[in-house]
Amino acid sequence: MPELPEVETIARGLAKRVTGETVDSVWLGQKKEPLKSPAREIAAALERSRIAAVRRMGKHIVFDLERNSAVSAAAAGKSARATQVQWIVHLGMTGRLQVCEPQADVEKHTHAIVRLASGRELRFVDPRRFGRLSVAKKADFDAGGIEPLEIGLDNFVRLFRGRKTPIKSALLNQKLLRGVGNIYADEALFRAGIRPRRRAVTITREQLGKLHVAVKEVLKEAIALGGSSISDYVDADGEEGFFQLEHRVYGREGEPCLVCKTPVKRVVIAGRSSHYCPKCQK
Ligand SMILES: [Zn+2]
Repeated sequence: MPELPEVETIARGLAKRVTGETVDSVWLGQKKEPLKSPAREIAAALERSRIAAVRRMGKHIVFDLERNSAVSAAAAGKSARATQVQWIVHLGMTGRLQVCEPQADVEKHTHAIVRLASGRELRFVDPRRFGRLSVAKKADFDAGGIEPLEIGLDNFVRLFRGRKTPIKSALLNQKLLRGVGNIYADEALFRAGIRPRRRAVTITREQLGKLHVAVKEVLKEAIALGGSSISDYVDADGEEGFFQLEHRVYGREGEPCLVCKTPVKRVVIAGRSSHYCPKCQK
């Protein structure tokens, strides 16, 4: 499943390729799961709109769309104003957005094709159909939670105050921080020296300070790695190319800790695998 750094990388790659493009037409498939908004609303929002920006919010990719209402405004005797809507894509487990030439083979599990004025196409492909396409009509999409790369220390500390849940669960709670997933939560907790099962309420301000730094560090490092492979990720054969951060604990159960050589442990917290070093993390 793509996590925040992958989504950031994909959004940046898409921004480079399609910002400023105008949408000619839209084809949407018959499968209903990927369509969180009705098909006609998605098509109406996209068709004849200009893609003003592409950015990430949490794990969502947001396309800011502008439609120049100059013609209708002039007819009504008002000044021209661009109406704004947003097209929102969540990639789910296996969703991908491809930018390709129209003659490229349409892959199986393609659920949307957005035809651009340049002749290129933006396609949404998703074999497992956990991905979602939707529209925010007033451009007021709210991804919930606070952006982990932007949160200051005081607000970060406040998020966990009084919480009796394990810190790992709190990190994954999208209503608190948006977009921190399983891998980066484990890696951040390792760097901060905090066990994933520790109750959030028992963690000192000083330790939360370390965690605040660690969360930003792992996400930024992963984004920096992803940034070098943007082209591969969003091209037609988009599955390859995202260089992952070297995991220090995630997925390394039984392997020696990179710091102290103690075997890494795996526990399940709220149904998710958590990896930690029993010596380095308290
Ligand atoms: Zn260790």
